Formats: sequence, C-alpha cells, structure tokens
Amino acid sequence: AQNGAPQPLNASKLIYTFTDSPRDVPDPAIACTGKETICTDHMILATWNAHTGWSAPELKPYGPLTLMPTASCLHYATECFEGLKAYRGYDGKLRVFRTEHNAARLQMSANRISLPFVDSKELQQLIYALISVDGSKWLPKSRAGDFLYLRPTLIGTQPSLGVQAPQSAMLYIIMGYMPRVDSVPGRMKLLTSPDNLVRSWVGGFGYAKVGANYGPSVLASQAASREGFHQTLWLYGEDGECTEAGGSNFFVVWLRKDGKKELVTAPLDDRLILDGVTRRSCLELAKERLSDELEITERKFTINEIIDAAADGRLLESFSAGTAWFITPVSHIRHREHDIKIPMGVHGESGEVTGKIKGFLSNIMYGRVQHPWAAVV
Ligand code: PMP
Repeated sequence: AQNGAPQPLNASKLIYTFTDSPRDVPDPAIACTGKETICTDHMILATWNAHTGWSAPELKPYGPLTLMPTASCLHYATECFEGLKAYRGYDGKLRVFRTEHNAARLQMSANRISLPFVDSKELQQLIYALISVDGSKWLPKSRAGDFLYLRPTLIGTQPSLGVQAPQSAMLYIIMGYMPRVDSVPGRMKLLTSPDNLVRSWVGGFGYAKVGANYGPSVLASQAASREGFHQTLWLYGEDGECTEAGGSNFFVVWLRKDGKKELVTAPLDDRLILDGVTRRSCLELAKERLSDELEITERKFTINEIIDAAADGRLLESFSAGTAWFITPVSHIRHREHDIKIPMGVHGESGEVTGKIKGFLSNIMYGRVQHPWAAVV
C-alpha cells in the first residue's frame, strides 16, 4: 500500500515471533504483591502513522518499548487504555466478558485524545490471539475461578514537541497479574473527595479512559488510604453529587421517601463518569431479573441524600462495580464529619441485592451458566 490509502488495522496479518526464553509462571498469591506487574511471555504491538495507516500487528516477547524522549504521550498525555479480564471457568474454559464494549470505549477514548481509530473487531481478534497464545500456560486449568488482566493501550508516539494530534501512534496489548478478587478487602470503605479536588467536570473528559484522568487522582487516594479508606468517592458540584468510587462505578440500594426500594447509580448523560462495562451489566441484569423487587434508576443523587437515608434507616446497601475489584460491598462512607455505616446483610458479607448481582455476573464470567456476554476463547 505504498501509495495507496492508509491501511486499516488487520488482525489477520498478525506476525508471530515467539519468545526463546519463556518465563516461569509465578505463584499467583505473590505475583501481584511486588513492585512490578508480572506480565505473560508475549505482548501484541502495532504501529500507526497518518500516511501509511496501521502496520501488520506483531505478537512478540514481552519487553520494553522504544520511544523518543520527545514522544507525544510523554508530554501531552496522548494516551488511552482499556482494562478487561480473561476468566478461567469452572468448566476449564477461558472466557472474556463483553469485550465489544471495551473495544468501543477505546475508540471513544482515542477520539477524545486525538489518537487514531482502532477497529473494534480487529482489536477483539488481537485480544483473543494473546489469550490463545499465553492463556493456557499463565492461567492453567488448575486455577478455575481465577483471571488474568488485559491492558490494551494506545499512545501517541510522534517525536515532536508542540501540542498537536499525533501523526504516529502505537497500540499494544499486555496481559498480567492483578490482585485476585479473593485478596481484595471484602468490604470497601470510601472517603469522599476533598472540596478542592475534582476528578471530572461538565465539558471535561472524565467519561474517557485516558491516562490523564488517573495520575491526578492519586493525591486524593493517598489521603484516603492514610486515613484507612480504600477508595475516594468522587463528589461533583455544589450539592455533592455522587459520581464514582475510585476506579469503579458506585451504586446504592435504599428505600426512597415514598417507600419504594431503589437501586440507583449516577447517569452517563453529563459525561462525568466512565461508562463501565460492569455498571451496564449490573443495570441490565437487575432490570431483567430484579425489577419485581426494586426500581432501577440512573440519576443524579447526592451525598446528603445518602446521609438522610442512613439517618432514617432507609439506606440498605451500597457497592462498587468495576473490572478490577468486581462487585465489592461498601460498608462505610466518611463525608466530612459524617460517618455513614452501611448494613452488610444477615451474613455480614454483603446486602441481598449486591450478593445477587455479584452471583449473576460471576456465574456468567466463570461459565457456571452459559450466557451470550461470555465468549469462550
Ligand atoms: N470508573 C472508572 C474511573 C474506571 O477506571 C473504571 C475501570 N475501567 C470503572 C469505572 C469501571 O469500568 P469497568 O466496569 O468497565 O471496568
């Protein structure tokens, strides 16, 4: 295509270069405790430039990237990414969960940060290819109920200072160990964001999965962890709208003042929050399976509504929902001088709605039930 149109990303052109020094698979319990994320033997990489389009993608040994110190991503945060998991099912099969939504979200994020278009189907094929090569070694059948974490990443590589749309970029996909769900605290304690720190604002980019949303959030999460909290509950605006909990979406179950039981989460329309794959799955399953017991609502709700509900005994449950920490019950929220304790159900593990939604999802992810959202790789 020397003089032709720029080439689209084409997963069927994948070039395989296997490692000649395969590494030992670490003990999963300690693999994610060190200072470096342990990744599998291989990664996938493709490069793009504005004239020729996408190179043939390559599957090659995991290792360092070469970038010029002037590369766009290093100066202007022209970077976006995705996070998803490969699950080892109880039936021995490897599955991925609704990857089309991750692929669509990467496209949306790339567009927001002026990075090139990545075709969703091709990206999903590349994800499958990496899982097919490294999945059976790094997530063996003996580890049913466990997962590996995949991180597709798109960066602007143009070696040129000056803020502009990158004329060259790199897509890579790596797969590695993240803390396992059973090592996560069974309950989450949230500290509301301080008044002087805002994660996202109307007209901003909080809805995109761009690196620029994450680095600046660490200041708040460090403060939270110093006080013994796991995540920041990000509030927005004068009235303290609840938006997201760290890298997860945030849900509450309560009795409204009219006595109706409601599952509520922040809406997408202000573009303040990430459109989580777990969030949409919780909403869809709740609407399908729990609408007899509660109303399912996406709307603005504030920290003061939570405080009021707790004071009236109407606050029933809360949980965070995201790929990394899955569904984790929230047991405690601190907002300024208010300490809000949230019931944890009869067995002290989670409320009933939280437990049901968590069960629905994990049954799908780990193949206890067959469902179109989980694809066998
Ligand atoms: N909000 C933020 C800010 C996140 O980073 C994530 C993780 N991608 C989520 C919510 C949850 O999204 P998902 O369910 O797709 O992992």
